[in-house]
Amino acid sequence: MTKSYVIKPELGKEYPVISHGKGIYLYDKEGNRYIDGSSGAVTASIGHGVEEVAEAMYAQAKEVSFVYRSHFSSDAVEKLATKLAEWAPGSLNWTFFVSSGSEATETAQKIAIQYWQEKGRPTKNRIISRWMSYHGITMGALSMSGHVLRRKRFTSLLADYPAITGPYPYRKPEDMSLESYALACANELETAILRVGPEQVAAFIAEPVIGASGGAVVPPDGYFQRIREICDKYEVLFIADEVMTGVGRTGKAFGIDHWGVVPDLMTLGKGMSAGYTPMAATIVSDEIIETITKGSGSIMAGHTYSANPQSAAVSLAVLDYVEKHQLVEKAAEQGAYLLAQLKELADELPLIGEARGLGMLCALEFVKNKQTKEPFALSGGVGGKVIQKAFEKGLLIYPAMGGIEGVAGDAVIISPPLTITTEQIDELISLLKEAVIAVQQELQDKALIG
Ligand code: PLP
Repeated sequence: MTKSYVIKPELGKEYPVISHGKGIYLYDKEGNRYIDGSSGAVTASIGHGVEEVAEAMYAQAKEVSFVYRSHFSSDAVEKLATKLAEWAPGSLNWTFFVSSGSEATETAQKIAIQYWQEKGRPTKNRIISRWMSYHGITMGALSMSGHVLRRKRFTSLLADYPAITGPYPYRKPEDMSLESYALACANELETAILRVGPEQVAAFIAEPVIGASGGAVVPPDGYFQRIREICDKYEVLFIADEVMTGVGRTGKAFGIDHWGVVPDLMTLGKGMSAGYTPMAATIVSDEIIETITKGSGSIMAGHTYSANPQSAAVSLAVLDYVEKHQLVEKAAEQGAYLLAQLKELADELPLIGEARGLGMLCALEFVKNKQTKEPFALSGGVGGKVIQKAFEKGLLIYPAMGGIEGVAGDAVIISPPLTITTEQIDELISLLKEAVIAVQQELQDKALIG
């Protein structure tokens, strides 16, 4: 019996123990093979067992693995920061390194608040976010998150931040055009700022494509452009949380690039090191750094492992690999193929209300009734059943069930490594189809769906 904390007692059994991984496949110690159809938690975006990354890891470990960030910088950290400045839009030229997505959003929140303090406007210290959102599990990050399931136990302890509705095109009012829906959703930000008072609001945070709390929900064109205008009008910083969408996942360098909008701060994690090491980042604009430099002179954030040379060398090797193999472009091409296959499944199977996504970040939303789009009770765990069935068949997919009971649906994320081939997508789809059909049959037998 292993004593690892990752074991889920409610499953009544232990998880299989992993042996190794190669490309999109993982193998457990019993010899079972799994397609990593979600890149773990939308993380392993260059696939498993990449030699170049292992070599970079070894080379850096031989030189030096750890120095403390207030004693030294390192070549690895400087090269990585320079590369990120090249990748990032506008004047997002400065990176503060951390080790997880939650630390990255928590740091973004603190930098935004500090920025206004340095400007002599300390009351600007609240962050507006959206109900369908996930920005991390630590208390500050959770305060900005709408993920109901993850907030529930801690709600009374969370910061009282305002939240607005994000666009959810599948469930928009039928008599509204996409264009006016996009504007109406974005204009909610203006209402929220005016209600709270612009002098109380430091920043607005949003995922360019909603991940864990909705399942690859893509906003309509025009939404983020209008958000940017509103942020500018009321002097509110815009934080793009790219922890899930960044580094090529959606078929552009960053999710927000699809709409040509430049945020003031951007957070990265997951695909930034593709799971080879814990690594994440908060990237900020020249204006923010100049203000803090002229003011107190230091960012009041940081962790023991911030700017860790070992993790930076690994992340640099991952970004080199993404560039060398043109994985951003591949994510766009192969992602379009993946989405087309998922849409075919959705046309065929009544359990699937919608197949959606952008690049290699896709999802299926399950519904009780395809015509009325009636969602399942989240407690019914239909997505969870599909995940379990897929797992038994050797396919890993990821839950997106943090929505609001009766409002947001029950979805699963399909987000394989960006390296996946067309044949491998076909293999993934055929296992997924078997899993959905099995659950659909079970629900039909119990008369839970028509
Ligand atoms: N932000 C987004 C958009 C995420 O999807 C996640 C994780 O799923 C986080 C932040 C938190 O990242 P981590 O789990 O690495 O702390």
